Amino acid sequence: MTWAATGRSGGVSEAPWSSLNLSATVGDDPEHVQANRRTAAALVGAAHLCVLDARHGATVQVATGAGIAAGADGVVTREHGLALLALAADCVPVVLADPDAGVIAAAHCGWRGLGAGIIDATVRQMRALGATDIIAISGPAICAACYPVGQDCIDELRAGLPPQVLARVARRTGDQWRVDVRAGVHLQLQAHGVQVRGIARCTFEDAGLFSYRRDAVTGRHGMIVVQ
Ligand SMILES: [Zn+2]
Repeated sequence: MTWAATGRSGGVSEAPWSSLNLSATVGDDPEHVQANRRTAAALVGAAHLCVLDARHGATVQVATGAGIAAGADGVVTREHGLALLALAADCVPVVLADPDAGVIAAAHCGWRGLGAGIIDATVRQMRALGATDIIAISGPAICAACYPVGQDCIDELRAGLPPQVLARVARRTGDQWRVDVRAGVHLQLQAHGVQVRGIARCTFEDAGLFSYRRDAVTGRHGMIVVQ
């Protein structure tokens, strides 16, 4: 398995997408996005790329070739040389692999996906394709201190998460709730026996990363994996 995390620098897009924007759905020039995706694929030595089209749901697809995994927040493959790319700008992009079984995956998880079960669904699909010993790396994401949320978010999470997980994900200071999506992703992975480590950078605080909360109209960085 080879993986990489991208940031803002090293691409050809102009402001407000400057410069390594990997999303084709945020208003950027499509030719710039294609050039940036080739740059991202080259980081892991891949010629073929399958890009997650994030929807904040729990749908997982099995990829057999290059293209867009439309409508999915998780994608799994056994194909060698096919890179998987999860995009984000505050949400948590994750790459997973069982190198011995030859199964890799990429997923996108925000607070909605956390409650909807995208992490569970991705691990289950990997297991269905033969994975047993899975490792995962979570990418840069917004930290809890920078991520105040409304009561509606907490209500939805309460419906989707066990109380002991919710207690680690949602924090209340005065009247304000804050959510640590990365902590939730790690807890859910560990519950499946997945060894996970994270890139502890906050997208909102780090000018070298894209942040939707900070900039609204902006690009997407990503996590990419190939075998
Ligand atoms: Zn932060």
